[in-house]
Amino acid sequence: MMQRADFIIVGQGIAGTLLADALLKRNKSVVIADGRPVTPAASEQAGGLLHAGAGKDLAPDPFFKQCLDLAIPLYQSLEDHYQIECITPKPLLIFKDVPNLKEVDRQHHVWLNSHFHFTDSPKILQPAYQLNVVSFLAAARRFFKTHQLLLEEVFDSDKLLVHSDGVVYSNVEAKTVVFCDGTTSMHSRYFKNLPFIKNRGDVLYLHIRDLSPQFVYEQSVRLAHREQQHWWCGSNHQWDYNDLNPDVLWRDNVLQQLTSWLKIPFEVIQHTVAERPTTAGQFPLAGMHPGERRVGILNGLGTRGLTLAPWYATHFAAMLCGEISQIPGYNYARFSKWLNG
Ligand SMILES: Cc1cc2nc3c(=O)[nH]c(=O)nc-3n(C[C@H](O)[C@H](O)[C@H](O)COP(=O)(O)OP(=O)(O)OC[C@H]3O[C@@H](n4cnc5c(N)ncnc54)[C@H](O)[C@@H]3O)c2cc1C
Repeated sequence: MMQRADFIIVGQGIAGTLLADALLKRNKSVVIADGRPVTPAASEQAGGLLHAGAGKDLAPDPFFKQCLDLAIPLYQSLEDHYQIECITPKPLLIFKDVPNLKEVDRQHHVWLNSHFHFTDSPKILQPAYQLNVVSFLAAARRFFKTHQLLLEEVFDSDKLLVHSDGVVYSNVEAKTVVFCDGTTSMHSRYFKNLPFIKNRGDVLYLHIRDLSPQFVYEQSVRLAHREQQHWWCGSNHQWDYNDLNPDVLWRDNVLQQLTSWLKIPFEVIQHTVAERPTTAGQFPLAGMHPGERRVGILNGLGTRGLTLAPWYATHFAAMLCGEISQIPGYNYARFSKWLNG
């Protein structure tokens, strides 16, 4: 039997999840296809940090601040909706000189001193937040599954039929399909010409006892708490590579840095790699295919996808529902060859 929906969303990373949520809030019906292909989703490998700082001096950026102001209440409301706790205020403690930032309160020096080697007082970036992305996406997936909105399979775009008034995939008929499939779109027949660039990041998962999870810590790498005594440690940005094998040189380097930074023992549990869906100039992609008006994309969220996704998903949903004609601040001229508003 055919299932009918307003939208098929391909991919249940942060982009697909938030777009589905924004469309459901507008009383649209959605089917989300995600079968977990071979490469890990960027969203699940993210450190989970959200803040509005930009550039080397981490000065507040007005657009990122707008995105953050929208993102935090949205994630908080989804905590209720999905019945989880996933977004936490989490200042970033930086163990290097960032002139614009304040020093961390002296009251923290005693315990910091027993955990870290440092000479100058660490700096503090706040407001900053940590999203527990893994729990968040798992809870959203449970919700979609319970409400029979999830198609648990790898979407094969060669099997997608696109008509002037809708699309058909397998036994689902929809008005529109939106690809939120991360790096898969780089090779897609609809969007491969968009200016994607490859960017991979290695992550070490560490076991560290007795480190306070009230901060995210940064020196040459970042340490972000995951669960119990597990810590996320990353990451690098590699633009030129041929495979997604763990970078052993990077790991050895990081282990040396950690040894000279941490006074407490740590142990490596796992080393993983993921690709960030990134574009030249780090501009997200949110729009419709110029030739196939039933085929859209939300992608290219780059290195700060967790801060940007709420903004782009919310406004793109409003655009798909005819409430607005363009995403505020979005320059469609930049992508006019490949993407329409
Ligand atoms: C190491 C690392 C650290 C990061 N740290 C941060 C951070 O601290 N803060 C921050 O804001 N951002 C961070 N990012 C960036 C952030 O993770 C990304 O911008 C964001 O997750 C991209 O989300 P997405 O939904 O577009 O793509 P993805 O998360 O890649 O999701 C794509 C989804 O599509 C599915 N999919 C793909 N192909 C198919 C198919 N054919 N059929 C069905 N499903 C398919 C995948 O299974 C996946 O679920 C980090 C990224 C990396 C790699």
